[in-house]
Parts: sequence; C-alpha cells; structure tokens
Amino acid sequence: MKKVIEMNNINVYYKNICALENINFTVEEKEFLAILGPNGGGKSTLLKLILGIAEKSSGTIKIHGDDPKKNKSKVGYVPQFTKFDKKFPINVEEVVLMGRLKSKISFFHKYTKEDKEKVGEIMKELNIFHLKNRQIGELSGGQLQKVLIGRALFMDPKILLLDEPTASLDGAAKTQIYALLKKLNEKMTIIIVTHDYGVVNSYVKNILCLNKKLYYHGEKGMDSKLVEAVYGCPVDLIAHGVPHRVLGEHREGIF
Ligand code: ADP
Ligand code: MG
Repeated sequence: MKKVIEMNNINVYYKNICALENINFTVEEKEFLAILGPNGGGKSTLLKLILGIAEKSSGTIKIHGDDPKKNKSKVGYVPQFTKFDKKFPINVEEVVLMGRLKSKISFFHKYTKEDKEKVGEIMKELNIFHLKNRQIGELSGGQLQKVLIGRALFMDPKILLLDEPTASLDGAAKTQIYALLKKLNEKMTIIIVTHDYGVVNSYVKNILCLNKKLYYHGEKGMDSKLVEAVYGCPVDLIAHGVPHRVLGEHREGIF
C-alpha cells in the first residue's frame, strides 16, 4: 500500500509548551483513521501539521512524499468549531463554492460554469442538493456539517481531515455523517478527530491515541489486549480531558 503520510521524530512547541513529542507514524492510502485523546492532547495540531498550517519544531513530515505546504489541494479540511456567523447571508451552494482555492478564481469571473456544475455534483453526492438555496442559518447541525464536508471536497482531496465534526450532533446525525465518511473512504484517506468512542469501532479501520506522545496506532477492536495497549497508561489521561463525556462513552464503547 502507498504511504500518504509519513511523520518522523516530530516535535511541536508553541513557545515553551510542548504540544507533540517525538511522533512517528505512517498512514497508508484509503486508511480510515480515528484520532482519540484528551483535550489539549495535540490532536488539532497534528491535523494542522498534515495541512501545512502548523509549524514543526523538529522532525520530518511528508504528504504524498512531499512537503505538506506543497500539497495543499490534496488535503481537504473540516475545521473544529467552525464559527460561522449564522446570520451571514450566504447559502449552501455558496459555502461549498468557497472550497475553490482562491488562487484559482479568475479576477473577473468569480466562478466558472464548471465550478457550478461541480458544486451540483458534490451536493448531490452528499444529499444536500435540495438545500442548495437555503441560508446556512436555517440548517440543522448535521446539515451544516455536510455542507462543510462539501466545501472540503471541492478540490478533490486525496486525504480528508475532520476535526471533531460530530461533537455537537445527536446520535442520528452522527450516524449519517459516519455513513457518509465510510462511503467517501472508498476513494480517499479519511482521518477524523473524535470523542465518539462508542461509534468509532463500527466505522473506522484504525485508531491513533494521542496525548502529546503517540500511545497507540493500530487496529481498532474491543479486546482487552487492545484496551490495555491503548489505555493501559492513558485511561487516566484520557479521562482527564473531558471526564464526564469520555468516561461515559468509554464504558459503552471500548470497555
Ligand atoms: P487538542 O486538539 O487535542 O485539544 P491542540 O492541538 O489544540 O489539542 O493543543 C495542544 C496543546 O498546544 C495545548 O496545550 C494547547 O493549549 C497548545 N496550543 C494549541 N494551539 C496553540 C497556539 N496557537 N498557541 C499556543 N499554544 C497552542
Ligand atoms: Mg482540537
């Protein structure tokens, strides 16, 4: 299998705060990977490194064999807590169009006919075509997440990164998003940061457990050996991040 992400001895410091320490891992093509870990564990930083928008302090990182900054259109990104001003007058179609790289929009014609057609296809694929002219302020949380995924898909990414996309969704909306990601995974690598310990096992292929250091990267599963490997040390650490939510979901899920 082709390696799409390679990190070697990566350290990231924000001034004197160490966010990531000696991270080594590779991700293969068509992986569906969940990144688990407590708040402040460096999950968002890891995604931003892959995107080329966070700076490493030392180590090497390659995306499709190249510097992350050279591969921007190959990586789609759904950021954590997108704070759209819900009153901002913009509709679903326009948000998906925002995924077009700015550098590729011509000066006089904002978007081409091809752009518009492409948006149509993406909206159909995500089952949001009927919402095309809907203002974003009128969408449910699940619908808005699909629109943001649509925006991230615009440049035909080979890797799709999602930072806690289901955090504010109810169970049914979560399931829909995971089902959609599973479908998208047929053609691209998917990496999702999530606290949905209960659902990750049914959808993702592998998990990566991060709390500044990388504690585990490998197959998901419910067996005690894995639980020990993943949480033998970090159970406590993970619980520290978001005690109520994580402990509750933990027991239903991996435990
Ligand atoms: P997570 O996404 O797992 O919650 P982050 O990657 O956001 O973790 O943060 C990891 C650590 O780095 C935390 O201690 C956080 O406070 C710190 N951090 C993140 N971004 C910045 C930043 N831009 N400036 C300074 N410190 C940061
Ligand atoms: Mg984060």
